[in-house]
Amino acid sequence: MGKLADDRVMQRLDSCSSSLLSYDWFFSRFPDQRSCCNFLFQSRLGNDWPCPRCGRQTKWHLSRYYYYGCQRCGYQLRPKAGTIFARSKIDLQRWFFVALLMCQSPRSVPAQFVKRATGLGEQAAWSLGDRLRSHMEWLGQPRLLGGPGKVIEVDETFLPNVVRSERARIKVLGITDRSQVMTFITKDRKRETIWPILRKFVAPGSIVNTDGWKAYRGLEALGFEHRFVNHLKGEWVGKDGTSTLFIDGYWARLKHFLSRTHVRINEAHIGKYIKEYELRFNHRNDRTAMFFRVIGEHPEFPAYTGRTLG
Ligand SMILES: [Zn+2]
Repeated sequence: MGKLADDRVMQRLDSCSSSLLSYDWFFSRFPDQRSCCNFLFQSRLGNDWPCPRCGRQTKWHLSRYYYYGCQRCGYQLRPKAGTIFARSKIDLQRWFFVALLMCQSPRSVPAQFVKRATGLGEQAAWSLGDRLRSHMEWLGQPRLLGGPGKVIEVDETFLPNVVRSERARIKVLGITDRSQVMTFITKDRKRETIWPILRKFVAPGSIVNTDGWKAYRGLEALGFEHRFVNHLKGEWVGKDGTSTLFIDGYWARLKHFLSRTHVRINEAHIGKYIKEYELRFNHRNDRTAMFFRVIGEHPEFPAYTGRTLG
C-alpha cells in the first residue's frame, strides 16, 4: 500500500468524520454500486492515474458493467482486481455493508448474523466474513515498534479451549508499546522462537519489559534494555515502574472476545480471529478509520499484462 493511497483514504475520512458509521451515513455515502466502485477506484488509483496500456494521462469512465475505460485507447480495467472483492458475485455495496457491521460491532460478527442482515445464503455469508477477516489479517502486518528510551512490553500466552481440537493450546506472543499491539502465533515459547521476532520487530535501544520467563534472559544481547517483573514472587509492578500490565490486560480482552462469539474455532482459522481482534484493538478509538482501511486499503494494483484486469 503506497503512502499516496493512504493519504487518499485519509482525505475521504476527513470529509465524513462526523457521521460515525451510522446506517443513514452509510446509505447516503454508498447509495449504489456505482458509488462503491468509484470509491474503490479513487482509493486505489486516483483520478490522474495514467493508462497502463497507452501510458497517457486520461479520464477514466465507468461503464455499465463496472469497468473503467481509458478515454484515449479504450483499455478497460476493474478496480476490484487484486482485492478480496475480485471475482466475487456479491455486489460491492453488500461487501462494504458487512465490513461496516464488522467494524461497528463490539464482538466478532457470526455468519448467521451476516446471512440475516444481507439476505445471502449461508455459504456466501460465511465466505464473505472469512475473506474480510483474511483481509484484516493482511492489514495487521507487523511493523517495527519502540525506539531508544521507549517502553515495550513483551509477553506470551496460551489460548486453551478456543479451538476444536482437544489438545491444541494455541501459543501467542504479544509485543506492545502500550498503544498498539502486535501478536504472533508461535509453535512454542522457546528462545529460538521468540528472539528472531523481537530482533525483527522491536527497535534497538527500547526498554523491554517482560516477566521472569527464562527465554527472555540475556535480551541485552539484542541491544535492548531489559527489565522484568517476577510474577512467581507475586511482583506485578517493579520499583522502577516495570510492568507487563498492558499486555496482560490485552490477553484478558482477547480471550473474552474469542469465547463470547465462538464456542470452538477451527484451528485453521484461529489466526484470522486473533488478528481481527488485534486490528479492532488498535483502532479502538477510531472505528471509522478501521472501516476505511478495510474497504480502501488493498495490495498494489496488478501490473499491466496485456489483458483486461479484474
Ligand atoms: Zn489508454
